[in-house]
Amino acid sequence: MFTKNKIKEIFSKTKGHCHFCGDPLILERYGWKDLDDLDGAWETDHIIQKGKGGRKEAENCLPACLRCNRLRWHRKGNDLRDLILLGLIAKDEIKKGSYIGKEVLKLKDKRIEVNKKRRRNIS
Ligand SMILES: [Zn+2]
Repeated sequence: MFTKNKIKEIFSKTKGHCHFCGDPLILERYGWKDLDDLDGAWETDHIIQKGKGGRKEAENCLPACLRCNRLRWHRKGNDLRDLILLGLIAKDEIKKGSYIGKEVLKLKDKRIEVNKKRRRNIS
């Protein structure tokens, strides 16, 4: 748990933007719990992950919007690049309107539904 000053310090590192996507964050929405209204909601992302010896201190943290951070999960390095590459390939297929693209869209909708149900079960 960070003090208010540490939260502000982390937030300021990117001038209040998600370090993944660059979207603006709202300082007061640190640790935000309302998952139906995620705009500006953020949490801290460890630069060097805890599992790789990264410290849990502000110096090792950057602000990340909830949407990006939840997608990133524990992925790092090659896994994350692979995810982005596959995403780009999927986007191209969707844009082309190919069979694969249409199937990917169906899978995306299905995933969003499953995630919504999972969230409802938690809260
Ligand atoms: Zn983001």
